[in-house]
Amino acid sequence: MNEKKDIKSMPLSVLMEELAAAGEKPFHAKQMYQWMHVKLAGGFEEMTDLSRNLREKCEREYEYTKLTVVEVQESKIDGTKKFLFGLADGNVVESVWMKYRHGNSVCISSQVGCRMGCRFCASTLDGLERNLRPSEMLDQIYSIQRITGERVSNVVVMGTGEPMDNYENLMVFLRMLTDENGLNISQRNVTVSTCGLVPRMKQLAEEKLQITLALSLHAVSDEKRRQLMPIAERYSIRELMEACAYYFEKTGRRITFEYSLVGGVNDTDKDAEGLIALAKPLHCHVNLIPVNPIKERDYVQSKNGRVQAFREKLERAGVAATVRREMGRDIDGACGQLRRRHLPRK
Ligand code: SAH
Repeated sequence: MNEKKDIKSMPLSVLMEELAAAGEKPFHAKQMYQWMHVKLAGGFEEMTDLSRNLREKCEREYEYTKLTVVEVQESKIDGTKKFLFGLADGNVVESVWMKYRHGNSVCISSQVGCRMGCRFCASTLDGLERNLRPSEMLDQIYSIQRITGERVSNVVVMGTGEPMDNYENLMVFLRMLTDENGLNISQRNVTVSTCGLVPRMKQLAEEKLQITLALSLHAVSDEKRRQLMPIAERYSIRELMEACAYYFEKTGRRITFEYSLVGGVNDTDKDAEGLIALAKPLHCHVNLIPVNPIKERDYVQSKNGRVQAFREKLERAGVAATVRREMGRDIDGACGQLRRRHLPRK
């Protein structure tokens, strides 16, 4: 890979030091940061109010991350757009743009592939290729904003990859995304989803961020969770709940539980009762996701009416629950499926 330093992964303070060391004024670092993270410039050549000398020097010394569009799919049902982006090393990642009444939301990937191995998930079938750098996470959002011409107000880190398995880069990304000198997205409009890496969840609680943490729970007993998610071999539901309580205590932010409903596996009344017992003391919001079947596995969706019955049971017990709208049902549904179509056949 490129040996040059990745300038779009540098927070403003780092960029200032970097350019100061090269004899540039702090003012120029601010200008350049604005070009990269507010005006979303496609390269140094666009930074017309900087000297040609500085631009050429940057061209020589730094790598400028800019994703390429490999494919776009647009839903005819709800306008959702799925983007397949190309990275400098030839890898591809998926991002999704969703339009809601309250604003535009982007779902980004945090890794190329994933090593968590959740049984129902397409993103993990070929394992982890590599972590994404902060600039590669940011540019998924920047590219989409450039292409659609519309402001992104919400970001969810729920695409391919386990964000907590790429913790350092994730933190730089989150700080830059919500920096007032950059896109300045409100921390409250950012959600990070994890399959439950307990030590990282606790570490995140210490970061003094106001983002939403979503935990992919999917089962209410350790035994059943282990069948769906290998990570459950490492951390028990009890440890997860302790980490959630700690996060809530430290940040005051309520956790969201994600619960993918799999027909005949985790969608009974008894499962709902177990979920109520876990969600209630923590004041969690539950996001129910009807499982998106992938051809490599034989998991099926819950029978007609089961999803609503499950939701109503939670609501009656005082647990706020929503069913994830199946955005873009008509385009390569499940996470990771678009990317998989583009992988070289092994
Ligand atoms: N690694 C993170 C984020 C990526 S997945 C995590 O595990 O949370 C985002 C959510 O989609 C997770 O809750 C994941 O379990 C769920 N998911 C993945 N594949 C799915 C599928 N085929 N059907 C339903 N939900 C799925």
